[in-house]
Amino acid sequence: MRVGVLGAGESGVGAALLAKHLKYEVFVSDSGQVSDRCRTELKEYEVPFEEGEHTFERLAQADVIVKSPGIPQHAGIVTQLRGAGKAIISEIEFAFRYCPGKVIAITGSNGKTTTTMLIHHLLTSAGVDAALCGNVGKSFARVVAGDPHDWYVVEVSSYQLEDMDTFQPDIAILLNITPDHLDRYGGDIQAYARTKWRIAERMNERQLFIYHRNAAAEFGLLQEVPVVAERLSVSPEQIISAAGVPDHLRGLHDLFNLLCATEAVKRVGLTAEQIAAGVQSFRKPPHRMQLVATVSGVQYVNDSKATNTDSVLYALLSVAGPVIWIAGGEDKGNDYSTLYDAVRGRVKVLICLGIDNRKLIEAFSSEVDEIMETTSMFEAVRVAASNALPGDTVLLSPACASFDLFVNYIDRGEQFIRAVHQLKEERET
Ligand code: ADP
Repeated sequence: MRVGVLGAGESGVGAALLAKHLKYEVFVSDSGQVSDRCRTELKEYEVPFEEGEHTFERLAQADVIVKSPGIPQHAGIVTQLRGAGKAIISEIEFAFRYCPGKVIAITGSNGKTTTTMLIHHLLTSAGVDAALCGNVGKSFARVVAGDPHDWYVVEVSSYQLEDMDTFQPDIAILLNITPDHLDRYGGDIQAYARTKWRIAERMNERQLFIYHRNAAAEFGLLQEVPVVAERLSVSPEQIISAAGVPDHLRGLHDLFNLLCATEAVKRVGLTAEQIAAGVQSFRKPPHRMQLVATVSGVQYVNDSKATNTDSVLYALLSVAGPVIWIAGGEDKGNDYSTLYDAVRGRVKVLICLGIDNRKLIEAFSSEVDEIMETTSMFEAVRVAASNALPGDTVLLSPACASFDLFVNYIDRGEQFIRAVHQLKEERET
């Protein structure tokens, strides 16, 4: 069998390693520059590859093409290979075909990483042999190429749900569907929603599909694509108690993620005691409603990963007192009016941190009394501190991508943390 791989990032390299592991012939092709890390690995495993171009003739010799999620459907090489009758599958599909264990797949617009890590943590802390993979860290294919596990907990983005024909998780979760990445779907949210729903398309009646009730209803998904799996619809409104939940997991979205994760691991066979113990020892990944420090009675919260309005909505709703909100960056087509109710009476100052803040200012000028513009994280934190009173929360929850001023959301979050720690040091010495 000959495998052609499009893209040489984590997914592509993972697919190549799996192909090697299966003793298949493999060739990797990337139209851009391959990172040093990936190049070293491809060389180490003696995987032939090209970069800076796609050689159609070479790829066309493959029996199957594995496409990395970053490559859009309309990319020239994809159209060409499809036109030549080549089977194109996603890296997740490729990995699934050889996966020796059971699969829990998590998708949604927000909360995927947190929920995937939470499920993995609950399983492993109860002694279940489970691997963590997908969009979070190591690719599914890379992990399948390694030692076998009983369970694979896989974070799946909507791009990865394209080009599947046998993928059938034992348990799937659809956390929510809110506007994000619409650029890739030509602005068609129905198409985006349908792609996410496809996670359950091939599941059978013995498998469990946990999904957000309102999202399914809003897009008429059950009518559009029937699902035969056992269905469990969940909704943030059904959360009535946070008893026994540690403080750092008490945001509405945390409780919702917890509800979904609990239903999934119950199905694996975990007891209530095992789940409760695992919840106590779980730590959320950084940059997601992370309390950095309290300085002069003001809490500083880093939610740099909030790159769309829905995650900001949950962030605002989970803060008790007045908020000084740091937002802005590269706007992916946001409709800020969905935040008005949460902002009104809650946000006392909006600090814009982006190269072009016009849209943000226009959207909130009648909702927030004071709006300020800053050009660096250091300045934003200083301006926030000088406007904050004890009991207030300074919340970095940008609603935008970070690429105008920062390398990525991690860099943005780390700069926030550094600026807060510096402030704390100055104030407390
Ligand atoms: P993803 O992997 O889907 O991007 P993350 O777990 O990295 O999700 O969280 C991204 C952002 O969304 C963070 O700001 C986080 O606080 C917020 N968030 C987490 N869970 C949810 C949820 N269920 N609904 C809305 N926002 C959420």
